[in-house]
This record gives sequence, structure tokens and C-alpha cells, in this order.
Amino acid sequence: MKIVIFGPPGSGKGTYATLLKSQLGIPHISTGDLVREEIKNKTPIGDKIVKYSNSGKLVPDEIITQILKRRLSPDLSKGFILEGYPRSIEQAKQLENMTKIDVVINLNVPSEVIVSRLSARMQCKNCGSIYNEQTLKPKVPGKCDKCGGALFKREDDQPKIILERLKVYEQTSSPVVDYYRARGSLRDVIVDDPNASPDIVVKKIMSLI
Ligand SMILES: [Zn+2]
Repeated sequence: MKIVIFGPPGSGKGTYATLLKSQLGIPHISTGDLVREEIKNKTPIGDKIVKYSNSGKLVPDEIITQILKRRLSPDLSKGFILEGYPRSIEQAKQLENMTKIDVVINLNVPSEVIVSRLSARMQCKNCGSIYNEQTLKPKVPGKCDKCGGALFKREDDQPKIILERLKVYEQTSSPVVDYYRARGSLRDVIVDDPNASPDIVVKKIMSLI
């Protein structure tokens, strides 16, 4: 099964993708993680990406596509859950050249729910794991379950900034969503309860794929 998961920032798509990964036994591939890895390992591509972001430019489509292509090729037969890609019609076409996507999950989350969820979000300073004061509490308050690192709130998780990020997401994602809707592979999942447990949402997703 080859799945793409779409959702605004704060929709919980990373959490759902991780749960789907263990239920379906296929890898979760996040282009955000792939990019961070290239930068961390100081690869030639990673250095290029740093140069682009330092000069305030967007990383060109073909660089992201190149990284993804390399990561995707060993898993093409087994399937995968792809997150963070495609972000444009051009990327959707590139992906189509690589493989056929079976289903695209589109998470529909009202902005109030996202604001409420992101304002409660905490991240581990050490390993980057995400927690939530309401829905995904760490076992020990303020400490990461995985590595014991300190949890903090991100600067860009303030309501005003969140609404701005949602507007940008809406503008860039809607052509890609329409593209898959027209192809009949889009499945809408509505998440309108800010305290919905990730398991319930994943159950909904599983019933659609
Ligand atoms: Zn941690």
C-alpha cells in the first residue's frame, strides 16, 4: 500500500503516520526528516540546502525530489506512508513518475482545533519527539519518554503565527488536493475534536484505506 498523508501543520499527521506505520508494517517517510538528516550528516545535498535556507531562498523542487527518489526506491515494492510531499503539482507529477500512489489521506482539521492543539504542544529539546499537554502527555511531566530530555514549547506555536502558517498551507496545498481528488484517490478524514485520541483518528484512516 502506497499512501500519501496530507494535513495542515498541527493536524497530527506525523503522529498518525507513525501509528499507521506500526499497524501496516510499512515505513513512514517524511521529507522533513530526510532533509534534516542530509543537513545533519553534512552531505553535499545537505550543504546545498543549508546554502538555500541561509540566503532565505526556497529549496528547489528537484533537490527534494532527488532525496526522496533515493529513499523511496528500496521500498517501492513494499509500500510506504509519505509525509511532506508532494507540495506542488510539479512534485505530484514527479511522484507519479516514480510510482503509483494508492490512496491520499487528507486530514481536515478546523483552525480552532489546530490552535488549541498546537498551543498545547511540547517538543523534546534532545530528540525532537512531540508531546501534547492534553492528548499525548509524557509519563513524567516536562520530560521526554524516549530519552529523558527536557520538553519545551516552540516559538512558532503561538496562535497568531499558527493562523498565518495555516493560511500559507491552505494556499499551497489546495491545488495538490484538487489534483488527487480529480483522480479519485483522495480520502477526506475530518478531525474536529481537539481531544480526539490519535488511536481513534487512525482507526478512521484504516477504515478508508
Ligand atoms: Zn527525547
